Amino acid sequence: AEHNPGQPEYLQAVTEVMESLWPFITKNPRYAEHGILDRLVEPERIIVFRVSWVDDRGEVKVNRGYRIQHSSSIGPYKGGTRFHPSVNLSILKFLAFEQTFKNALTTLPMGGGKGGADFNPRDRSPGEIMRFCQAYMTELFRHIGSDVDVPAGDIGVGGREVGFMAGMMKKLSNRADCVFTGKGLSFGGSLIRPEATGYGTVYFAEEMLKQSGRSLEGMRVAVSGSGNVAQYAVEKAMALGAKVITVSDSDGTVVDEEGFTPEKLAELMDVKNKQYGRINAYAERVKANFIPGKRPWHVPVEVALPCATQNELNEEDAALLIRNGVVCVAEGANMPSTAEAVKQFERSGVLFAPGKASNAGGVATSGLEMSQNAMRLSWQREEVDARLLQIMQAIHRSCTEHGRREDGTISYVNGANVAGFVKVADAMIGQGVI
Ligand code: NDP
Repeated sequence: AEHNPGQPEYLQAVTEVMESLWPFITKNPRYAEHGILDRLVEPERIIVFRVSWVDDRGEVKVNRGYRIQHSSSIGPYKGGTRFHPSVNLSILKFLAFEQTFKNALTTLPMGGGKGGADFNPRDRSPGEIMRFCQAYMTELFRHIGSDVDVPAGDIGVGGREVGFMAGMMKKLSNRADCVFTGKGLSFGGSLIRPEATGYGTVYFAEEMLKQSGRSLEGMRVAVSGSGNVAQYAVEKAMALGAKVITVSDSDGTVVDEEGFTPEKLAELMDVKNKQYGRINAYAERVKANFIPGKRPWHVPVEVALPCATQNELNEEDAALLIRNGVVCVAEGANMPSTAEAVKQFERSGVLFAPGKASNAGGVATSGLEMSQNAMRLSWQREEVDARLLQIMQAIHRSCTEHGRREDGTISYVNGANVAGFVKVADAMIGQGVI
């Protein structure tokens, strides 16, 4: 803690992993050697830089940009880019740390990284967004590359922003290789990448339920958020027969007891992705109930899919969900549940999947985009979706292998942490102290 002052999210993520690893390392002491743990909690490189740009009124604005290159042990640094006013070193270091384990779980050769800026895209014009993305790239371009570090989107960075950044990268580097994933289809993007994180989260939830002879069919589901991950979690949950009751944003929650339909989802996507609007505008369109200032966790459901942001589900929320009969929680966002909430779910026998396992489908499909770009071809939708499903099932299997408790039940938290760690640690040992 004294090494990372003022970084609560980073310490939270590291503490959770260390708690899982401790019993494993006690039984497998070779992983305590080679300074593995000390090296893993220190990012290989952190780049912090000024981003200056000119807004629509001609005023100069200055933001702070970051890239955390956490671990390249198993492949080039890989991880998203977040534009949100809350972005700081603690949040990006936690995300890059988690990303390293997540990427190891995908079975693909990708190291871990994360980046972003404290820029708030809300209420900015399309021209301002483009100029900001370009200004961000004028520094970042010298630190990344298809075999070095391959960023992608995250909160506040969707297909449009990735396009602007990938375009600027191409201009500055005079190269067309794959330096960003999540690109548009016409310039190297992969089918199913937009859907992948949300779909993958639902595939994972279905795998967990299958273990105990159940399925999503007929279950009530609460989704939080209304962005990229949330939208496709809603779509796949519906497709598997679940009734999705909620979506949300930082202003409040839409509660729709009749459940989502494909038509309502199309309206949501229009409001969010075309108008760049808010969730209460969606509620008005479909005549659903909008509750300002509330998160979705008070609504009785069997399955909860937190898909908005870190620490959006706390101890009281967890207790309420459990009282209301939740049986399965799969994180679409990164670390949306607080440490206390996770402990409650695990203690109460709720099937709980941490984001690094259940939301790994996004980065896995980004890995597939890198492969397609390197081969200069593009796979069909069905092929990418089938690979995504296989990868999610493989991650589920490694969680069950490494996370089985003495009583036969599974801790997906321990399973994901140990499985990811073993792969990264073996790679570190193999390559010596560097
Ligand atoms: P988007 O920007 O598309 O959507 C984010 C959603 O979360 C919006 O509804 C937003 O509401 C809400 N949100 C963001 N910050 C807050 C906050 N501080 N309080 C309340 N609500 C908030 O992002 P994504 O869907 O891409 O990302 C969502 C989560 O999933 C993040 O944790 C991200 O790290 C994680 N993730 C994303 C992947 C991807 O492929 N995109 C891959 C793996 C994980 P509002 O508009 O009001 O801010």
